[in-house]
Amino acid sequence: MNLFVPSFETDQHEEVERKTETHSDGGVWTFKGNKAAKEAASVSMKGILATLIDNCSKNINKTILPLGHGDPSVYPCFHTSVEAENAVVESLRSGAANSYAPGVGILPARRAVANYLNRDLPHKMKSDDIFMTVGCCQGIETMIHVLSNPKANILLPSLVYPLYHSHAIHSLVEIRKYDLLPDQDWEIDLKAVEAIADGNTIAMVITNPHNPCGNVYTYDHLKKVAEMARKLGLMVISDEVYNQTIYGDNPFVPMGIFASISPVVTLGSISKGWLVPGWRIGWIAMNDPSNVFKTTGVVESIKEHLDISPDPSTILQFALPNILEKTEKDFFENNNSILSQNVDFAFDALKDIHCLICPKKPESCTYLLTKLDLSLLEDITGDVDFCMKLAREENLVLLPGEVLGMKNWVRFSIGVERSMLEDAFVRLKGFFARHIKTQVT
Ligand SMILES: *Cc1c(COP(=O)(O)O)cnc(C)c1O
Repeated sequence: MNLFVPSFETDQHEEVERKTETHSDGGVWTFKGNKAAKEAASVSMKGILATLIDNCSKNINKTILPLGHGDPSVYPCFHTSVEAENAVVESLRSGAANSYAPGVGILPARRAVANYLNRDLPHKMKSDDIFMTVGCCQGIETMIHVLSNPKANILLPSLVYPLYHSHAIHSLVEIRKYDLLPDQDWEIDLKAVEAIADGNTIAMVITNPHNPCGNVYTYDHLKKVAEMARKLGLMVISDEVYNQTIYGDNPFVPMGIFASISPVVTLGSISKGWLVPGWRIGWIAMNDPSNVFKTTGVVESIKEHLDISPDPSTILQFALPNILEKTEKDFFENNNSILSQNVDFAFDALKDIHCLICPKKPESCTYLLTKLDLSLLEDITGDVDFCMKLAREENLVLLPGEVLGMKNWVRFSIGVERSMLEDAFVRLKGFFARHIKTQVT
């Protein structure tokens, strides 16, 4: 039996019944798909993961292990909190959440997000500093869209959630990459940022905690980011969607702490922390004690953009205060403890797979990122080839780093059932033994 991988299910019957027809009167249709979307989507993970799943062998007696996918919520051990479920049921039953919501989101939801984030911030945000979005994804889309202009460029880390890429391409914003330093706890190469920023740089994106590197930045490092942003006049967009998924020793520091040095846009959602990415609710938060985003017109643009975009369901918005306030600490601690044990196991098991090296043990998020040492392998040309052959021979799917902008790296999901992880490493060992270089040249 194969594991349930929702994004790849199609209804075979429907597809068979549909016939492709040309224009019935011999004319031509005046419309066609847009090339920009095709290019933007080509960097998406969904595309490559679908190809890898297709590449798995139906005739070998092994379940498909989808460790390239990053959604722990499909596994029974990662179930959302009962308080969150109750909040949604109550919201639904109340009858108070059946209407349209304003573009920026309903006040109770915005107030609840402000309170939730303010717990860790010296400069308190108000409800009006918060905008509700359809998951963090819409926060990304909104920010890139409202900041774009014909000459614009955006600074993205070399490893970044692919949607930043896609929306920058779609909005014709030039992408400039800065490096993360694997040997320095994946810190940002700040000199590189200075070198690539200019007067047309609309923003610098940071991800903290970092998916997929699994690090959290220190207070000192983030302070340097803020100081540099001030010097260069840059907007910092901090993607903190994983702020609840932390199991290492480094504490999480929200970028908003440094808002008095340089204003910060924080993006977040409940998708990862509450294990409910299908609920589609998130936020854009303005940590802006000096009203910079107001005077530069950014706030107005965001409101206008959200007025003409789809909103998160009112049912979820209405439930959000209870979701954020009532979920017990234990819930997060329990999830993080499972993840921490999985990381310990995988990090240890990697010692037998010499072609995959993890430079830093993750302390957050749900991934293990490894560097592929091709010199040890006989007939593997790169990360995509490695993952393709692994899928075909072992029905094990890992994500090639190339989709994330890191050629010859490979990403494991560790937010899975422990037994899957154990099975994966048995298969990897077999694969490595078959492909290891026999002669030293
Ligand atoms: C998952 C993820 C997102 C998208 O979050 P949603 O709330 O599911 O839209 C954004 N950024 C990063 C870094 C992510 O890992």
